[in-house]
Amino acid sequence: INQLYSPLNFFGTYYRMIQQNFIDMEKMLDLFKEQQSVQDVPGAPELTVSEGSVVFENVGFSYDPRSTALQGISFTIPKGKTVALVGPSGGGKSTILRLLFRFYDVGSGRILIDGQDIRLVKQESLRKNIGVVPQDTVLFNDTIYYNIHYGNVKATEEDIILLDEATSALDTTTERQIQHALSRMTRDRTTEGLMVRLFASDLTYNTFLHYYISIKDGQVVEQGTHDELIQQAINRGGEGVYYEMWQKQLRDESEGKNVGEDSSGE
Ligand code: ATP
Repeated sequence: INQLYSPLNFFGTYYRMIQQNFIDMEKMLDLFKEQQSVQDVPGAPELTVSEGSVVFENVGFSYDPRSTALQGISFTIPKGKTVALVGPSGGGKSTILRLLFRFYDVGSGRILIDGQDIRLVKQESLRKNIGVVPQDTVLFNDTIYYNIHYGNVKATEEDIILLDEATSALDTTTERQIQHALSRMTRDRTTEGLMVRLFASDLTYNTFLHYYISIKDGQVVEQGTHDELIQQAINRGGEGVYYEMWQKQLRDESEGKNVGEDSSGE
């Protein structure tokens, strides 16, 4: 059991070493302030997690009545699957995560965890069951970070682990190490647990991610495995959110490699 959690400790060590970005931290703290507007219904039962399946059913949401952040979002994350939400900045990935955490209530549709509408269960039990390593947690000081998220990840064995661009601020070597730890962690979690990683452009994790959902302009524009999404895009003449991100990543990687090779003297 200790071994199962060691990668998480590993992350903690790195996060604490990272330079902090205070603007983002304020943004995240605002979010925690706002969460107080969501209330438990009287007598709400605890969330019971058996399989850890997550269903978004036609979910719509607006932060502001004049603009729509999400519309008609539907997807199913089966038990034990590792899923990434991908797509351009501002598409709605973080909003999906916030709704899953019930920082806000959905405007329309439903979110179900193992068949339970998350609006009807105790918030505390919901959050306790979702371990999250969001992008912005790297920006938290130990106490806030630990109390709000990390404690949860370590505390329960059957969490749904969510990673929100966890490594976006890291250098390549650190990122590779974390990638390795991540794949070990997911391999250990064969029966329970779901991992969602949200990222804008980094697709280096595809060796252990099962499924991708591309989010753009508040909608699901495509979903499937890496191979499926690449094939679909090729059939469409090279068009596709995931495909384009993948292509960009390959280009970036080859450019990065060339830069690194300039000491070879060739
Ligand atoms: P990124 O990859 O940059 O993190 P994202 O895909 O996570 O982007 P969201 O942050 O979910 O996108 O944003 C979706 C939409 O909602 C955008 O139009 C954004 O401007 C808007 N939005 C996000 N957070 C808020 C907020 N707190 N108040 C108002 N609008 C918001």
